[in-house]
Amino acid sequence: MTETQPESLEFRAEIRQLLHILAHSLYTHREIFMRELISNASDALHRVQFEMLTNREVTSPESELAIHVEVDPDARTITVRDSGIGMTREELVENLGTIAHSGVAAFLESVQDAQGPAADLIGRFGVGFYSAFMVADEVRVRSRSYRPDATPYEWVSSAGNSFTIAPVEANLPGEGAAQRGTSVVVKLKEDAAEFATQWKLEQIILKHSNYVPFAIYLGGREVNLKTALWRQMPAEVTEEKQHEFYRQLTLDTEKPLASMQLNTDAPVQVYALLYIPSRRDTGPFRVKTDYGIRLYTKKVLIQEQAKDLLPPYFRFVEGVVDTEELPLNVSRETVQSSRAMERVRKVLENRVFKELSRLANEAPESYARFWEEFGVYIKEGVTTDLAGRDRLMPLLRFHSSRSENGGLVSLAEYVGRMKEDQPAIYYLLGEDLTSVASSPHLDSLRANNLEVLYLVDPVDGLMMASLPDYGGKPFKGADDPNTQLPSFDEATSESPLPIKDLDRLKERCVDVLGDRIAQVRDTRALRNSPCRLVSPDDAPSREMQRVYRMLNRDYEVPRKILELNPRHPLIQNLAWLVVNRPQEPLINLAIEQLYENGLLIEGIHPNAAAMAPRIQSLLEMAAGTLRSGEGKEPD
Ligand code: ADP
Ligand code: MG
Repeated sequence: MTETQPESLEFRAEIRQLLHILAHSLYTHREIFMRELISNASDALHRVQFEMLTNREVTSPESELAIHVEVDPDARTITVRDSGIGMTREELVENLGTIAHSGVAAFLESVQDAQGPAADLIGRFGVGFYSAFMVADEVRVRSRSYRPDATPYEWVSSAGNSFTIAPVEANLPGEGAAQRGTSVVVKLKEDAAEFATQWKLEQIILKHSNYVPFAIYLGGREVNLKTALWRQMPAEVTEEKQHEFYRQLTLDTEKPLASMQLNTDAPVQVYALLYIPSRRDTGPFRVKTDYGIRLYTKKVLIQEQAKDLLPPYFRFVEGVVDTEELPLNVSRETVQSSRAMERVRKVLENRVFKELSRLANEAPESYARFWEEFGVYIKEGVTTDLAGRDRLMPLLRFHSSRSENGGLVSLAEYVGRMKEDQPAIYYLLGEDLTSVASSPHLDSLRANNLEVLYLVDPVDGLMMASLPDYGGKPFKGADDPNTQLPSFDEATSESPLPIKDLDRLKERCVDVLGDRIAQVRDTRALRNSPCRLVSPDDAPSREMQRVYRMLNRDYEVPRKILELNPRHPLIQNLAWLVVNRPQEPLINLAIEQLYENGLLIEGIHPNAAAMAPRIQSLLEMAAGTLRSGEGKEPD
């Protein structure tokens, strides 16, 4: 081979930025560079293993699938070498320098936002290969792709703005050109010399990479456990081991909320280690790019993020599933359609249900945390999975008019303390707990001492629209004007407002609001509130109206019925004004405002800010009236 001058190429801009931060401002947690290099080696081994099993032609198929780590304290170098899939020239250039990397962008963003040093972030993100520059003056990557006609190349960089790429004789020092795989030689900075000992490296490998399923040789000696933890007898797998495995699998620094191990032969053979994380990993801290469970068949990783092993609403579950029941060259379609998988899915789903029920019944505090983070998924399940609904409903939790300090109630608890003759489970949808708690719709329910569930999640409307009943008790919206509450009716006196005055006020409301309302009528359902808006019987469900508004889909304010409370002083005074001083400008403003207050309370106001000028006019009138009354004796 003729000598070729290395070609120099520029890093992508955000990678230059990342390298600068890594090389100059991170001095703690630096050891995780080993985790990243080993994880890349393991990924590369998984991928070549998969190629071999699916009968593609692969260079040096006989070589052991393993990772070799060598250290030279005098030269201050660490070499991490794998017999994995390798990289072509183009792949080296792209993967290690020019391709956009979502993790990098997210990391840079968080560094800017973070108060403290970026060091804590790096553990969570895993910025991958580039983390080597936290400890290295120079990184040298030699690689040969598994493709039979590929030739080896060397990539070298000392951070900065660029890297070089050149063809080489052999991809691995001391070996022939035929060997496939990648070696990464890290030349340690002077201040990182501490990493250049076997002892230190062994510690680091055991801490972060113990469960990598390929052998890791350190100076020729195999050091890692390598075991598929999920294949061990559950009795042997301590909680500590489970958590340790979770940490290495997800990079989540918090303990999982629950761990589940499965080891069964009937009705289907499956090993699994599943976890419920303790928080929803959203935003920039999300380590995984997508949800899914690692799926192994016969110990071979065949899907990194298998989505079909659990119902979609259990997608918060993390972990590993291993079964002998699938062929190795399985495709996503096979996973979906095979009978064996159907049974595996059932077993896993049952296990997660069982765990959630256990938490809900035996560990209410943990379950409350779970609900806070993942409750929305259970709601999704109740809404979308008709077959699973009966099992999911007991997992629902609600705020209610009787739960103290944000406590939660289950449907069983609600039903358990229902009044004997209570015909329904009452609920009220709204924007937030505060506005729901002060809704006029609660007046009569409160007076009757009836408990009401408060539903303030955006998905609640959809959910309630799909729920028929619980244990034979129908759900009833507190804002349903047909809700009959006899005991309250009996308790209230006749309207002290003369019918004809009330009629004049109703007419005036119709004049002012016109088409915006369907009807004006009086009601006995209110006590402390002057009025409310309710839906006509033929309107689309109130639940769905809120959903439409949320989706902002060609939103039109629905025409509602305005119900007046003839016992309320504000209504009585307005009626008096309509009869005695019909020209008073306050009348129309007040009617408009009462109507819009109603929209706001219902969570269907299209533009609340537009109310400000009217409120100001009303305040001016009130203040003016008070001032002009100054000096006079109150009558
Ligand atoms: P990630 O592993 O999250 O994709 P990295 O920065 O760790 O990100 O690696 C970038 C890419 O470089 C990998 O996706 C892979 O394509 C390639 N790569 C890194 N190390 C190796 C290796 N040892 N063998 C083969 N490809 C590798
Ligand atoms: Mg990586």
